[in-house]
Amino acid sequence: MRKFLLTLLGGIVICAACGGTYNRKSASLAEQASDVRDTLPSAAQPARAFSTEAPAARPNATAVAGDTVTICVVGDIMMGTTYPRVQLPPDEGRELFRDCGDLLRRADVACGNLEGAMTDGGKSTKRGGTHSYSFRMPTCFAPRLSEAGFDFLGLANNHANDFGPDGIRSTERCLTEQGIGFAGIKGHEESVVKEIGGIKYGFCAFGHNRYTLRHQETGEVRRIISDLRERCDILIVSFHGGGEGGGFCHLPDGRETFLGEDRGSLREFARISIDSGADLVYGHGPHVVRAVEVYKERFIAYSLGNFCTPYGISVSGINGYAPAIEVKLGRDGRFLGGKIHSFVQQHGEGPHWDETCAPAREIKSLTEADIQGRSFFIDNDGTIRNATE
Ligand SMILES: [Zn+2]
Repeated sequence: MRKFLLTLLGGIVICAACGGTYNRKSASLAEQASDVRDTLPSAAQPARAFSTEAPAARPNATAVAGDTVTICVVGDIMMGTTYPRVQLPPDEGRELFRDCGDLLRRADVACGNLEGAMTDGGKSTKRGGTHSYSFRMPTCFAPRLSEAGFDFLGLANNHANDFGPDGIRSTERCLTEQGIGFAGIKGHEESVVKEIGGIKYGFCAFGHNRYTLRHQETGEVRRIISDLRERCDILIVSFHGGGEGGGFCHLPDGRETFLGEDRGSLREFARISIDSGADLVYGHGPHVVRAVEVYKERFIAYSLGNFCTPYGISVSGINGYAPAIEVKLGRDGRFLGGKIHSFVQQHGEGPHWDETCAPAREIKSLTEADIQGRSFFIDNDGTIRNATE
């Protein structure tokens, strides 16, 4: 959402008062799920002292030169479920995005991954059991997503089909009603374009399940992105992939498997995406964060972890790291700088601002371990700077 623009000057964030009130961006838009080892929440989490202070305000984007855009990307969102039992936050989730809403709304565009079906009925398509969960968000929670500031949500993940084709249709209907663009289901729209602030943003999403557009099918990836490239100014790609849990923080070379499934060759996929025309690639699926990279002046986040998963998905320890990465791009899609904003989840609540910047430091450490020949730096507070600055 265009609200405020991140201005990085010599690596220093310039803060200024931001005018205006919340104003939704006007937009002209219009298998069986694989088993997943999303662990149930562990017992009560120890209370942690988090600052609720919002990240520093920045100058109004409309007041400065419009040659850059700011995009905020986050990971998995599953606001609560009514299956197999009701586990929902109070007040229809109105507090879930309290600490991060300003950040999401002030970006020109905010994107995430909707990890579950949004429907009020239906029958689970999963078998149940130790590694098989179904997530069903009530449709009355849909406005929380637009109120939070989301513009695009990926549906290519291992929970979109938890309530079958009817569940997917319901999810898509809910998002359409909220003016949120989506993509990722095979046989549905392959990509979406929204014009925001005079710029056409293209979005597509890939997963590893048979009912999704798949990142393993590189010919299709090239075709979909190349087609979308012709129709937009800034092209954003979402992907769900990789092994899951604390043993999968590091980004491997080559293909990953998990629970016997092909979970993708994600370095290759991200680079193919950029070679085909993507400007920004963001990933999720491991439930933990992973490295970030700049490839051919385009930004990649390999896993953003869980962002808003108060129930049904473990948020203990590093599973609770919920970064929101704010990326500044040139109008030509080049990466100019960014900031990893650190939020942490506690069971039953949404992401809370983490003044210790633990998620940012984790991404910095993983990046330094897993990405060779970097052209950028990450500071301990999460600021991402091109090495040439
Ligand atoms: Zn998943």
